[in-house]
Amino acid sequence: MKCTRCRERAELALRSHNAAFCRACFLIYFNRQVERTIRQDKMFTPDERILVAVSGGKDSLALWDILIEQGYQTEGFYLALGIGTYSSQSQQKAEAFAKKRQVKLRIVQLEQEAVPVPLAAQFTRRMPCAACGTMKRHFFDQAAHDGGFQVLATGHNLDDEAARLLGNVLYWQTEYLARQKAVLEPSHPKFVRKVRPLYRLSELETAAYAFFRGIDYIIEECPNSAGATQLFYKDILNRIDAKMPGSKRNFVQKFMHSAQSLFARPEDSPPRECEKCGMPSYAPVCSFCNLVSEVERKHEHAQSTSKAEADSSKQTGQAEQPHLDETH
Ligand code: SF4
Repeated sequence: MKCTRCRERAELALRSHNAAFCRACFLIYFNRQVERTIRQDKMFTPDERILVAVSGGKDSLALWDILIEQGYQTEGFYLALGIGTYSSQSQQKAEAFAKKRQVKLRIVQLEQEAVPVPLAAQFTRRMPCAACGTMKRHFFDQAAHDGGFQVLATGHNLDDEAARLLGNVLYWQTEYLARQKAVLEPSHPKFVRKVRPLYRLSELETAAYAFFRGIDYIIEECPNSAGATQLFYKDILNRIDAKMPGSKRNFVQKFMHSAQSLFARPEDSPPRECEKCGMPSYAPVCSFCNLVSEVERKHEHAQSTSKAEADSSKQTGQAEQPHLDETH
């Protein structure tokens, strides 16, 4: 197999593009795809400061790497979710990446600033991913606003967008389809523009980029992702794409460029500010503050119940002690 560009030996075949690339030409191709996406979708300019949300995984680190390579002003943001060794290992990967490239990485520990994801899921009976999503949205928005950034970039790739689109279409979630954009303009002065510069590149392509660039990323998936509907949708889309190469790309790109605007809704009135944290919210108290209060309340209740139980068994034990002594 020969490289489509230079005719040297190819290392990667991209059936959806009917092309194959050697390592050097693939990196050129990947760079151009990202450059073109940023320019055509008017994501940001070199004058703007970009906060890159990194998880320690291949997509977000590949995104950060390419934005650094292209000369953009970036800082990373890592939210430690408190999910056991998965979180500690992914934090190490993000820190090592930043150290090697001498770029700034901001870190927020949920355990200190709010509540870790497993505790939130346990006390609210929400799915961990639902609690995690609420936390991420809040802390990403807050970090971008507090740090004076103009843009928040995330590493969602073509497969993520295709799975999200399939889920939204299956249930005709028109409200979500209206917000499924590669560039989301802020609806409040405390929000920044949110962009997804990798949305035209597949998971295979971002993995190949990370590998060819020698990026050390966490390979293990979050334990909470097992059995997730998103993975099921991705599998279905991959099977369709294997039979009809390019269909996944077509599905997302045609939606973004031709169909998405059909779901546009009249502008909602802008959000007000949460009474507790001051971040934008459509309700008096935002979903993040509601979640944290609920966990704290239930956690406190559980702790006082178990303390009361421990005290009462201690008293019972003391009362029984003379009886035990008597028998000996
Ligand atoms: Fe969060 Fe769920 Fe993703 Fe894990 S799989 S990082 S809990 S959204």
